[in-house]
Amino acid sequence: MKTKPLFIVISAPSGCGKSTLIDMLLQQYFDIEYSISCTTRAPRGEEEDGLDYHFKTKERFEELVAQDAFLEYACVHGNYYGTLREPIEDALAHGSSVILDIDVQGAAKVRERVRALPDTDPMKIGYVDIFITPPSMEELRDRLVGRGTDSAAEIEKRLANAEGEMEKAGEYMFQVTNDDLGMAYRRLCDLIDALSGRM
Ligand code: 5GP
Repeated sequence: MKTKPLFIVISAPSGCGKSTLIDMLLQQYFDIEYSISCTTRAPRGEEEDGLDYHFKTKERFEELVAQDAFLEYACVHGNYYGTLREPIEDALAHGSSVILDIDVQGAAKVRERVRALPDTDPMKIGYVDIFITPPSMEELRDRLVGRGTDSAAEIEKRLANAEGEMEKAGEYMFQVTNDDLGMAYRRLCDLIDALSGRM
């Protein structure tokens, strides 16, 4: 079935289950490509270079900024994160959809850029942004602690950031609450199916 290539931007405070939801989508929708971001933060747990992130030194990251390689970049929790422009343009040109997992600052920059594009640009045609919310801040804290990948200080920093990120939720076209993983996933699939013309 021929479907419309989507340019999907997803944001959420860390610990909202966003990565899990995105992994589930990628396993079901083979025509959606994940945009692998560059970051200056150190790999966590099982993360692999070139798969989860392109891990870069600060110097290399700054070179890429100077070369205008990024569609957007931002400093999140004290590290740089950036979305490379070329893989997204290539994927959309080949008829695939692309999914970006970026923070609220990055999403705001992408939104602004897309708005300024001509109506015929594939990024503008396929654009959709979605904010995943936690059921509550208490639940978010429990999930971050349970994940066991971040120090206590890191968790406090992420929770403080989450408050600010939640204030931006209204800027997104859609919001999905991850109260129940299966239900949140179903809502995401319904959105993608409707927007890409799968149903
Ligand atoms: P983490 O360190 O937990 O993998 O990611 C921290 C935050 O950085 C998350 O909110 C994630 O969405 C965001 N992030 C990951 N890649 C990018 C990117 O390329 N650009 C921006 N602006 N944020 C990103």
